[in-house]
Amino acid sequence: MNLIFLGPPGAGKGTQAKIVVERLGIIQVSTGDILRAAVKNGTELGLKAKAYMDRGDLVPDEVVIGIIEDRIKEPDCSAGFILDGFPRTMEQAKALDDILSKLGTKIDHVINFEVNEEELVSRLMARAEAEGRSDDNPESVRNRLRVFQEKTQPLVDYYKGTGILRNIYGLGDIQEVAGKVQAVLGA
Ligand code: AMP
Repeated sequence: MNLIFLGPPGAGKGTQAKIVVERLGIIQVSTGDILRAAVKNGTELGLKAKAYMDRGDLVPDEVVIGIIEDRIKEPDCSAGFILDGFPRTMEQAKALDDILSKLGTKIDHVINFEVNEEELVSRLMARAEAEGRSDDNPESVRNRLRVFQEKTQPLVDYYKGTGILRNIYGLGDIQEVAGKVQAVLGA
């Protein structure tokens, strides 16, 4: 099963992805995690991405599209994967369609984690204190939400149009949300 987890930063995509990965034995592909690892290791990719990430801006499309293309061609993804945090722009969504059709595969469901924005902001601020991520400062958080509305929200309509969008309210109890995800996937 191939899935996209869509939703603003802080909506619980990563947490829910880990639960599904455990249950179904598929792979989580998080562009945010891949980029953070690159920054930490000081690779060329990391050097390119860091300033965008710290500001809460999107890393350029061609960079993340390249990352995804390489990653989902790996043999471990053939049993299924969850894209967590990708695509985030229409460009990325279109590129993903091309990559998947070349590989002879497709996305089965797009889980859209809907949220209440006020609750989301307080969650992101709490995460900032707990994890100390360099992009979880108030200015960057606000920018990430703005960027989400502008660039990523249009993907909801795009996937609604293709009939694979499934909406779930994302900010409840973790197990409760996990139950809803499971019900939607039927697995
Ligand atoms: P995340 O952990 O998914 O919130 O991602 C953290 C940061 O990594 C984002 O704020 C972006 O700067 C960058 N990033 C992650 N995924 C993408 C993507 N699909 N497109 C562009 N930038 C991304």
